[in-house]
Amino acid sequence: MTKLSTIPQHQLSITCGLCKHHTMLEVANLIAVVGGDTTAHEVRQRARCHNCGVKGNNTYQIVYSGNSDIAMDGAGVRLD
Ligand SMILES: [Zn+2]
Repeated sequence: MTKLSTIPQHQLSITCGLCKHHTMLEVANLIAVVGGDTTAHEVRQRARCHNCGVKGNNTYQIVYSGNSDIAMDGAGVRLD
């Protein structure tokens, strides 16, 4: 599992499984709210859709918005 403290420069791209509403969350902001020991997976489970209100029913990707030469783990990383 990827702890937020290891990816402070990243964003979580979360897509609602029900209505497909898309949200980008700054990991640095998440750390301030939930702490660096929280995993990206836990954030996904706790995330509530702002559009339809469903909780935990979503998919997420870890997106790195800075230099692309940083080593990434295999957690569905995609560069936009
Ligand atoms: Zn939704």
